[in-house]
Amino acid sequence: MTEPMFMIPVFHEKIWGGTGLHDRFNYDIPTDHTGEAWAISAHPHGPATIVNGEFKGQSLDTIWAQHREVFGNAKGDVFPLLTKILDAHEDLSVQVHPDDAYAAEHEHELGKTECWYVIAAEPGAKLYYGHHAQTREQLADWINNDHWDKLFRTVPVKAGDFFYVPSGTIHALGAGIMVLETQQSSDTTYRVYDWDRTDAKGRKRPLHKQQSIDVTTVPHVDPKLDITKKSVGKAIITKFVASEFFAVYEWRTNGDELHFTRGRAPYTLASVLDGRGELIVPGEKPYTLVKGMHFIIPFDIKEWTVRGDVQIIASEPGEKA
Ligand code: ZN
Repeated sequence: MTEPMFMIPVFHEKIWGGTGLHDRFNYDIPTDHTGEAWAISAHPHGPATIVNGEFKGQSLDTIWAQHREVFGNAKGDVFPLLTKILDAHEDLSVQVHPDDAYAAEHEHELGKTECWYVIAAEPGAKLYYGHHAQTREQLADWINNDHWDKLFRTVPVKAGDFFYVPSGTIHALGAGIMVLETQQSSDTTYRVYDWDRTDAKGRKRPLHKQQSIDVTTVPHVDPKLDITKKSVGKAIITKFVASEFFAVYEWRTNGDELHFTRGRAPYTLASVLDGRGELIVPGEKPYTLVKGMHFIIPFDIKEWTVRGDVQIIASEPGEKA
């Protein structure tokens, strides 16, 4: 197919969610506790639906299963990536995700390495990232005895920041942060601590202390990021990360054009975070791009141009995806 596939998000209500997804993107959110928009998703807990072209009305997981040529005949049982926008109106639970090997054995799905592009952050906002334990024994002691102040490490955050969160990293978004998350397509979360919160019925969400102790990397080491920028006239391409799981870029056109030719990756995911512009592919009329749109550029589109004044976060599967 030679058309991009546009899709609409699936929304998830969360104890920590708010109305930010409506306020910023004008999405039709279900409640005032909406936490997540699963934007480019083939995960069974919320597959996105295609809204244009040959596959209009079908879900992304169906297209992955039945039309693998769209993805350059990429291998794998499941579509490997998941793009979400998260609105942390309150702190999220502090959590950790397993790697592929642990997740395959215990959860029968992929592990979860994720990363965040920070769309917005209120003044003073912070996130929880890593921990201070030096040995697994100390980690277990602090988790089992609720020594959260000793354990947790916080990092200040502002719009435009980028964080890579490998599996095994203890993490949480803090209140007042909105991110675009690119992750392995997995829904396995081990909750370390949930701030002793209760829902409307007075129930606490379950914790997974033992699994958290098992899968957390000790000691924590910050990943080294090699962020690079390339200017084309006024337009800028930023490469945030290229890991075994995914590569993530920002395309900012700033009134100029960015021209792309397909590289190693067989397909490309894109989310428009701000502005307005056009996507031009050979043989099709231009597609209007506005804030809040999400699409996949399939294998058969070998070159494309983005123009106007848009900010896009794009991603591609990595070697291991
Ligand atoms: Zn997470």
